[in-house]
Amino acid sequence: MTVILGGGISGLSAAYYAVNEARLSSVILLEASSRLGGWIRSKSSPSGAIFEQGPRTIRPFDIAGENTLNLIEDLQLNDKLISINVSHPVAANRLIYMDGALHRLPNSLKTLFKTPSLLDRPLISHIWRDLSAPRVSKEDESVYSFVQRRLGQDIADNMISPLICGIYAGDAREISVKSVAMFKSMFEAEQKHGSIVKGMLTKQLKKLSSKSQDRNNETKGDAGDKSAVESLTLAERARMEHWVLWGLQGGLEQLPRALAENIKGRGVKVQTEKRCDKLTFKSDRVELLVNGEPQECSRVISSLSAKDLAELLREQHPALSAELKAIPTVTMGIVNLEFEGNVLPLQATGFLVPPKENLPLLGVFFDSCLFPGSSTVLTIMMGGLWFEKYFGPDPPTEQLLTTAIDHTKNILQIEEEPIAHNVAVLRDCIPQHVVGHDARVKRIHDYISAHHIPLALCGSSYQGVGVIDVILSAKQAVRDVAK
Ligand SMILES: Cc1cc2nc3c(=O)[nH]c(=O)nc-3n(C[C@H](O)[C@H](O)[C@H](O)COP(=O)(O)OP(=O)(O)OC[C@H]3O[C@@H](n4cnc5c(N)ncnc54)[C@H](O)[C@@H]3O)c2cc1C
Repeated sequence: MTVILGGGISGLSAAYYAVNEARLSSVILLEASSRLGGWIRSKSSPSGAIFEQGPRTIRPFDIAGENTLNLIEDLQLNDKLISINVSHPVAANRLIYMDGALHRLPNSLKTLFKTPSLLDRPLISHIWRDLSAPRVSKEDESVYSFVQRRLGQDIADNMISPLICGIYAGDAREISVKSVAMFKSMFEAEQKHGSIVKGMLTKQLKKLSSKSQDRNNETKGDAGDKSAVESLTLAERARMEHWVLWGLQGGLEQLPRALAENIKGRGVKVQTEKRCDKLTFKSDRVELLVNGEPQECSRVISSLSAKDLAELLREQHPALSAELKAIPTVTMGIVNLEFEGNVLPLQATGFLVPPKENLPLLGVFFDSCLFPGSSTVLTIMMGGLWFEKYFGPDPPTEQLLTTAIDHTKNILQIEEEPIAHNVAVLRDCIPQHVVGHDARVKRIHDYISAHHIPLALCGSSYQGVGVIDVILSAKQAVRDVAK
């Protein structure tokens, strides 16, 4: 019997791959709370607008992005998918709030010779810096230090630090350059080719030559049957139509709901309000303590955060527990606001705030620009690494709401009052993949395999914090246990 711990998106995905791909029989999923979905939570306002308390948009890129699109197709959620492509006005307008004003992030090569309002020199001079700066061989470093070295301090402060707040709610000076796909490939480009630009150009040239090779092969083959767009998979459409983001009409929570339906139909026993408090690995079985009662199984897939899993292993494997516990997390305050009609000064994805602005806000999503309705819906993300600095350990909901409303109205020059709101404190919601994280995760996996522990890990503590990353991590964890 396989026990999956946690009923968030990664635990549900692990159960899905366990029964649909690895064809494991006898799978139980244990979820401590009374609901499934974990951080993915879509609530309705009285008018029917959607308040996303957790994630709202998903990236379609790379293997992880394609894997999630395949899952959407398998779960027959295609009709609900709303895609945003590169030419959508919202995709082009990504803003930074700095020095009392909103600034557009440069988004095309046309601006190369102009000085963007966020910087004090044209972008081309930053590119020149990258081309002339010496290569520095490193195992790992922070996103901030890498960008500062190669492109300059104002790019690190004004563009990249707020971006890291938007992904990790944390500090670019701490987050590892290997933890975000875009920076990882830039870092690898420098390590291999001596500069980001040289490395990226080499990669693009290789891509172009393999694309033209593919086109040659296609013309030689049967080209007649490839034109119908309906016959394309979602992943193929995403590539062809240049999607940059997608979401689900009616809220992202439909994804965990559809997964739960699927796995229940395939025989997975899904049990809520079942907290696992302890794991003990014996030579021929695993003993679990669930709501104080003993249970047994043959293997465990954990989708819990590393911090939570550490507690379960503390007695039997203190060294492993200490490594897991050392992966830090941050707490966020989330406020969703709804205003009547359109109150926004412009259509955009939203804005992010650099930490050096010393504001309690990390950023604001313009949800209703991404998923239009009759009202304006905004989500304000607050705190993160700086939660206690701005709000103390246990702030009242009213304090978060007032702070969010005051700052948002002031920055966006909104005069109206919101007609509905939702406030939540999400404790320890985002693990921080700090410098050295890769090496720590390797030590964790090495320990598990050296001690022959029938335990596989998935979720946001290890390989990436995006929804697509944790779904892929669940697929990998199932493959690991089914070997
Ligand atoms: C505010 C916010 C915004 C985000 N925005 C985006 C976004 O726009 N796009 C994107 O791609 N990603 C986004 N993310 C990241 C993404 O939402 C998460 O990485 C993902 O939802 C994590 O899912 P999970 O299943 O790994 O973990 P969780 O959702 O934390 O699920 C773990 C589950 O385990 C349960 N559990 C804990 N302890 C036990 C126990 N002892 N026994 C049994 N069960 C237990 C918990 O109750 C929980 O349900 C966002 C995250 C947050 C917090």
